[in-house]
Amino acid sequence: MVATPIGNLEDITYRAVNILKKVDVIAAEDTRKSSILLRHYQINTHLRSYHSYNLKKETPKIVELLKSGQSVALISDAGTPGISDPGYHLVQTCIEQDIRIIPIPGASAIITALIASGLPSHRFVFEGFLPQKKGRKKRLDQLSEEERTVIIYESPHRILKTVRELRERMGDRWCVMARELTKKFEEFFRGTLSDLMNYIERKPPKGEIVLLIQGFNKRVKKNEV
Ligand code: SAM
Repeated sequence: MVATPIGNLEDITYRAVNILKKVDVIAAEDTRKSSILLRHYQINTHLRSYHSYNLKKETPKIVELLKSGQSVALISDAGTPGISDPGYHLVQTCIEQDIRIIPIPGASAIITALIASGLPSHRFVFEGFLPQKKGRKKRLDQLSEEERTVIIYESPHRILKTVRELRERMGDRWCVMARELTKKFEEFFRGTLSDLMNYIERKPPKGEIVLLIQGFNKRVKKNEV
């Protein structure tokens, strides 16, 4: 499990580059995107696709490679594999088959966003992508009582709807939108959920987004910050 950058190509460890050069096969979520990184570091290892749409077919093939003695590195689109991507499925299967998993740590959008957010970082909860339909209301209600900093991934197309719903369910809390982390147009918006709504309405965001919301504070009523 090899972590790769979330934007800036320099955010990769020496160990990760060496391992990607040494392994027999690299399984990548998006082979086209990963080729840019691999070319940059002159990594010529054979690439194969491992994505949510082919994981049923691909998992047994990767297990077979590993069982035959080959080494396989799993990389995701960006950041740490296994976080909001199909990596988890492969890890579970390998553990069942007694195959050793070696984590090679590195960048992840969650931690990158959290450490510069200014929100409490000693306790936090990562929610990944919120359910789009089934279970969404229930999840939002559960989160409204959450005392730890809440971190979610969201797409630019859905961010306005999500922020609006969070405001309705959670009250007007402090939040941070971390966008395009480590890239040229990196941006941190800090303010209340209402401020963020207004901001997004005026300037619809592009690129990749992590949204962080202040945890529930019993001493503060739901509609105050
Ligand atoms: N495995 C990745 C990680 O370790 O962060 C996350 C993969 S998940 C499929 C992709 C989501 O992560 C994006 O939709 C976005 O919410 C978030 N993300 C990834 N890169 C980002 C970046 N550079 N800036 C902000 N958010 C990012």
